Amino acid sequence: MSREMCYRCFWPQSLCWCPSITAMPSRTRFVFLMHPKEFKQEKAGTGRLTHLCLARSEIHMGVEFDAHESVQALIQDPRNLAMLVYPSAGARNLSRGDLQPADLGDRQLVVFLLDATWALAKKMLRLSPSLQRLPRLMFTPSAPSRYVIKQQPVEGCLSTLEATHELLLALERSGLDEYPLPEQLLGLFARMQDYQLRCARDPAREGYRRRAYSAPADRLRPQGSTGARRTRLFNLGEKPPAASASDDANPA
Ligand SMILES: [Zn+2]
Repeated sequence: MSREMCYRCFWPQSLCWCPSITAMPSRTRFVFLMHPKEFKQEKAGTGRLTHLCLARSEIHMGVEFDAHESVQALIQDPRNLAMLVYPSAGARNLSRGDLQPADLGDRQLVVFLLDATWALAKKMLRLSPSLQRLPRLMFTPSAPSRYVIKQQPVEGCLSTLEATHELLLALERSGLDEYPLPEQLLGLFARMQDYQLRCARDPAREGYRRRAYSAPADRLRPQGSTGARRTRLFNLGEKPPAASASDDANPA
């Protein structure tokens, strides 16, 4: 493809999102760790757009982070409370009030989010014991996913963008942060989807789908283990069907 890219949001320059994004302040520091396959496959790049929406955030691409200088600096700084957003037994659930301002004390909350499928996220953790050892944080989404693009099969699957929105809502309810611009992430998300749906309806375009997207309620659940393998982290939705099965087949 010869289209000129914006190297900030990684969309074609003619569709660049940057002018419509205001980097929002937050108390919490957000660190997005993106698996390289996610960068290749998730054309919409919601992880990157989310990062651009948050002034105190950074994004790093990689598979193992134990030797990653700035990631390790954040984890080891005693002034930080570094936590990994990863739903699991023993994770503190923000929506249940498991993390309170008193737990932080004077420390800076630093949350790490893995921008990857479940299988790839597990691999990232296996290769990065320092991430594995982080205390874990989770939340209960307040809304089912708005992600129609990926034909998301399971209720409660969220894109990275929506997951961060839900995380910010939960942080605000816990008194840990303020969330002044909730419309921004969701508005961006809606506009991005409008654009992709328009492309899907246009036979002249690359993303055209012969069959229209079905209503969320009519979609099939993934079959067997293949579906589970393709599910994104935080139960974050499914890969585009054509791109996922072969590429993710050998996560180990
Ligand atoms: Zn841009």
